[in-house]
Amino acid sequence: MRVLMAGSPGSGKGTHGRRLGADLGLPHIATGDLLRDQVAAGTPIGREAKAFMDRGDYVPDDVMIEMIRDRLVQPDAARGFVLDGFPRTQGQANELDKLLADLGQSIDAVVVLEVPIEEIVQRLSARRTCPKCQRAYHMRDDPPADDETCDDDRTPLERRSDDEPDTVRYRLKVYDDRTAGVIEHYDTDCVVRRVSGEASVDEVAKRIDEALGI
Ligand code: ADP
Repeated sequence: MRVLMAGSPGSGKGTHGRRLGADLGLPHIATGDLLRDQVAAGTPIGREAKAFMDRGDYVPDDVMIEMIRDRLVQPDAARGFVLDGFPRTQGQANELDKLLADLGQSIDAVVVLEVPIEEIVQRLSARRTCPKCQRAYHMRDDPPADDETCDDDRTPLERRSDDEPDTVRYRLKVYDDRTAGVIEHYDTDCVVRRVSGEASVDEVAKRIDEALGI
């Protein structure tokens, strides 16, 4: 199964993409996580991407497309994947079409998580992320068991540099301007499943599974 997770920043793509991938036994491929790994490792891609990410801007298409091409041809993605955060531009969507056609693959479903903007701003200001495994917590609604460390690996949680309120507002604008329309690219194939993401994590997970028929 090949699934795209779509929705604005803070809509829950990462949380649900990770869970869905684990349940389906497929890799959860999140472009934001791949980029943050490159930044942490200080690679040339990471050095180029960091300035864009800190401002809340998109990393250039050519960098993203190459990164995804390299990732999707890895053996673990041959049976399927849950792709989170890609494509975010029309150019990326066109390139993904070509890449999948070359691989003889296609997208089975696009899950669009819909969450009102006030809720998004609230969630991102309460979000803390594990810099090691990228798991996200909501400090009020879904806090870690022990203070401010990750339940999975005990790493101290951090606030992402792009989760500052001004940057959040800018990211939402970039999403509206450049990404919201990309979903229509998939409408023709009837693969789009719109799911309200305004509920508990468990409830939204149930809605996603229902929408996918799993
Ligand atoms: P969110 O969905 O909350 O914005 P992500 O972790 O998915 O968080 O992405 C963080 C940042 O990584 C984005 O603001 C952007 O700078 C960069 N990024 C991730 N995916 C892409 C992409 N497909 N195209 C361009 N930039 C991207």
